[in-house]
Amino acid sequence: MTCSERQFNPAVMSFLRDELELLRNSGLARKLPRLTGAPGPRVSVNGREVVLLCSNNYLGLAGNESVKRAAKEAIEDFGCGSTGSRLISGNSDLYERLEQDVAAFKGTEAALVFGSGYHANVGTVSALAGSGDVIFSDSLNHASLIDGCRLSRADVEIYTHCDPNDLERKLTARRGARRKLIVTESVFSMDGDCAPLKDISLLAEKHSAMLMVDEAHATGVLGPTGAGLIEHMGLSARIPVQMGTFSKALGSVGGYIAGSKDLIRYLLHHARSFVFTTGLPPAAVAASRAAVAIVKTQPELREALWRNVRRLRDGLLELGFRIAQSESHIIPLGLEDDRLTMAACRLLLRNRVFAQGIRPPTVPPGTSRLRLTPMALHGERDIRETLAAFAKLRSALERRLVQRQMLTVR
Ligand code: PMP
Repeated sequence: MTCSERQFNPAVMSFLRDELELLRNSGLARKLPRLTGAPGPRVSVNGREVVLLCSNNYLGLAGNESVKRAAKEAIEDFGCGSTGSRLISGNSDLYERLEQDVAAFKGTEAALVFGSGYHANVGTVSALAGSGDVIFSDSLNHASLIDGCRLSRADVEIYTHCDPNDLERKLTARRGARRKLIVTESVFSMDGDCAPLKDISLLAEKHSAMLMVDEAHATGVLGPTGAGLIEHMGLSARIPVQMGTFSKALGSVGGYIAGSKDLIRYLLHHARSFVFTTGLPPAAVAASRAAVAIVKTQPELREALWRNVRRLRDGLLELGFRIAQSESHIIPLGLEDDRLTMAACRLLLRNRVFAQGIRPPTVPPGTSRLRLTPMALHGERDIRETLAAFAKLRSALERRLVQRQMLTVR
């Protein structure tokens, strides 16, 4: 037998089928939904037009005309790819202009742009803490922060979600650590509640700990100029490491860290997810710049978003849904059971509303939910039709129809 005729032993890969079977049996198998057309308040899912209620395109900037124009012009001027990592050949002046814009937006000395929010979190957490250090991480932090903790090789203390008392107990217990880093989201991605940033920043100062705040879901949405919860609470000077992403309200792609010049210079050398990857394409960088400018100058987009959040929330409460403790534009509708959540998602889809079910490992076991995110661009008709679909879900839940469907659909 020649080398090219030889095949790998299929038994080596048989665990894949076993694992997939396990996912199917536990109701946790996932499928990619197929969306077509431009990103707007309505999209086509699997060929049907539906109200989109589960995107992070909160302000609609992914399809905004001037954002698109900026991206097109950047392709004309700079081409399609950045051609290398930023420390080698991939650093155009476009990048530096975006970093200046972000620093001005966030009220910090400097900023550093990464390939995504995930890159920013993984690279920054693992650069700031290492062996012999302790990271204090909120129990509901995003996977990218968790993965940063894992990569860092630091000890990790997970404190009870949004609980400064538990955080303080843990800080006190680990007072001998070399460096301490507290990491939290500001608006939590799956629950929509807000971290007690004032208390946490006071604890960070008291215990000489660094504090890193992930503003992925607050940027563009909260604060007088849309800079986030930190701006809303007037805490910019007290939070040394501010993270965000261009992929949500800003409608593009990429992540960033905003902070002191020293922090940015340090990350430039130590954040491996910055050093060892190609820079973002110019179109994305230019789109992000245009989006930041819009967020700062068009507060009416935020106002429209909040109007829709209120309408949807009030309508759901009137229908008798219980909404978990959210203080933001992210409205979680807890259904707990994984299969029930997906059956609810399907029922809504049949009624032309796309609200994706969120299950473990994205959320803890037993807390599956629909995560509803209205957009600034939804009109009255969109919200009305959405509520009509939820009225059907409500009566199906009452008649336990959903559960029966759930058993037959699988
Ligand atoms: N942090 C949080 C809280 C997030 O929700 C996400 C994305 N879901 C990220 C970071 C990662 O951002 P990106 O999608 O830009 O990689």
